[in-house]
Formats: sequence, C-alpha cells, structure tokens
Amino acid sequence: MAAEHTIDGARGEGGGQVLRTALGLALVTGTPIRVRNVRGRRSRPGLLRQHLTALRAAAAVGEAAVEGDALGSREVRFAPRAIRPGRHHFAVGTAGSATLVLQTVLPALLRADGPSELVLEGGTDNQAAPPFDFLAEAFAPLVRRLGAGLALRLERRGYYPAGGGRFVAEITPGPLRPFELLERGEARLEAVARVAALPEHIGHRELKVLKEGLRLGRGQLRLEHRPDAQGPGNTAQVLARWDGGAEVFTGFGKKGKPAEKVARDALVEALRWREARVPVGEHLADQLMLLLALAGGGRFRTVRPSLHTRTQAELIPELLGVGVGLTELEAEPEADRWEVRVG
Ligand code: ATP
Repeated sequence: MAAEHTIDGARGEGGGQVLRTALGLALVTGTPIRVRNVRGRRSRPGLLRQHLTALRAAAAVGEAAVEGDALGSREVRFAPRAIRPGRHHFAVGTAGSATLVLQTVLPALLRADGPSELVLEGGTDNQAAPPFDFLAEAFAPLVRRLGAGLALRLERRGYYPAGGGRFVAEITPGPLRPFELLERGEARLEAVARVAALPEHIGHRELKVLKEGLRLGRGQLRLEHRPDAQGPGNTAQVLARWDGGAEVFTGFGKKGKPAEKVARDALVEALRWREARVPVGEHLADQLMLLLALAGGGRFRTVRPSLHTRTQAELIPELLGVGVGLTELEAEPEADRWEVRVG
C-alpha cells in the first residue's frame, strides 16, 4: 500500500476546500491521507456537518477506512481501498452545502469503471459554495468537454437555515481529454432573482439593480417567486452564456442584508469578469483547475487567482503529481487577466 501523505489543513485558504481536495485526490490516486488542523483557519475549526458528510461520502465511494469521523474533528485519516461507482445517497442532514459533497467524490467517479447516480440532499444554494445553477450551467458543460458526462436534475432547492434541498447527479466516466479555454465570444446575459418564502418585492429590487448595472432589457430579467417554499431563501444571479461556454455569478440573500446589496454582489463579480475579457471567473477557476488536472493538462484564462485557486494550485501537484502554473498576462494591476496552465 502507498505511504500515507500528511496535509496541513490550515495551509493556504485553510478551510473546507483543503479537506475536500485532499479527499477527492486521495480517492483518485488510492493514496491514504492524514489531514491535520482540519479547517484550521476558520473561527469554528474542525468538521462541520457538511464536511462530515463529504468525508462519509468519500468513504462510501472509496470503501475507505476512516479515523476522525465526527463533528468537530480536527484530524482525519482516510485510506481508500477501491472505487465503488453506482447508486449512492448522501444527505447533509442540515442546510450545509450538498453541492460541495458532490465536488468531493466527483473526481474519482469521473475516472471510475462505471457510471454513478448520486442523490444529494442539503443546501443547494449556499453562501460561499457553488450554487446549483452554477454547477448545471457553468461547471457541468466543462465536465462534458473533458469527455465525461455530468447531468444534474434539481428536485428541490434548499437554503440556509431550513435546508431540505435535493438534486440528482448522473456521472458517466470517460477517457478524459485536456482542453483549452482561452477566449470567449460576446456573452448574452440574463438576470435571475429567486425568492423563496419571502416577499416578492425582494426579487423586483434585485432585478432593478442588475437591469441598470448591466443595461439589460426586460426580456433578460427573470423572477422565480416560491411563496410556499419550505424555508426562506434568496439569490440574485447573472447568467452569462456565449457560444462554447457559460458563467454564473451569484449574490446570496441573508437575514438583514438589503436586496440591493445581494444583487450588487452578483453585479460586481459579473462586471469584473466582463471587463477582464476572460472566459473563466473567480470561482470557476479553482474548480476547473481540478478537472483539467484529472485529464493530465489544459489551459484557461481567468481573473486574478483567489486564495482558493492558489491553494488548489499548490495541492494538485503535491497530491496528483500534475503541475500547475499561474501567470499574469498583462502587468498592469487593473488588467486582471491571468492564465492557468495545468500539466
Ligand atoms: P469553510 O471551511 O470555508 O467554512 P467550505 O467548506 O464551505 O468552507 P470553502 O473552502 O470556502 O468552503 O470552498 C468553497 C468552494 O465553493 C470553492 O471551490 C469556491 O470556488 C466555491 N464557491 C464559493 N462561492 C461560489 C460562488 N458564488 N459560485 C460558485 N462557486 C463558489
């Protein structure tokens, strides 16, 4: 058996992502890992329900021996034995992000020897996590471009704090091929406000901010109001689609946060991406890097790398043996154009 690899969970971004990437790539390589200082840079370090579910999901998919499988645990040992694709059901049990549970096991299932169908329950639209529509519109097409399949079917949205979301992910492995995503065409924009069990005016106010900020016509605005949803929740989103790709920028509603501020979060991110004239936005960058590393290489252009992206860029060579380079394309600080080279 391969020697155990130790990862300091407080390095770089120092949150859940270090743990998820370590688990995901341990599954891919079959290497046992020990993660110390789990979420060491967070005010409440250790495993929260969402991370515990990700660990258990990884253990089920990898028939792994696990130590530290408990809420609050700050050290985890994980030794995968074999990859078991097929049907799995993972429920966070709280409103914690179910999309991040999918991200943990996806790398291994994309390279498994059979298809999988996962039912995921928990939050689908959580602050600081990929919202469902981001996965479906921006991320899944890139998985398909890699040569594999990822079909996502939303059954119910789940927001913090009520949770109760549910979606299905069908994963078809394939020989993964590197690709390049360097340019993009003119994007067609759409603004979507989703308002669950909250007053409809929240959505109208958000759409007004996005309409004015992006100079959208009425036909580019969509309001989804679900007054009888299980719990309150709200997002304001900008969907950008061009021939050959898509990006999704999201502002998350929170009690006490004005609707205008929710919309402005999405607007600022969308404007930044548009001005940078790159295909890949800040959040897609760290997730796409991992996909390309699974294929052994690739290249894309993006905005200035976040700490998440820089952390991935350190972990991937260490855990997978695939190099990652980050290069600033134009020296002026305001240019905000970078290239990521994998492999
Ligand atoms: P933590 O340990 O920080 O409490 P966590 O486990 O929820 O948190 P992070 O380590 O912060 O998560 O990782 C969050 C992941 O979600 C990253 O891959 C990031 O790119 C992605 N993400 C965050 N916000 C968005 C967004 N608005 N759209 C798409 N992806 C996002």
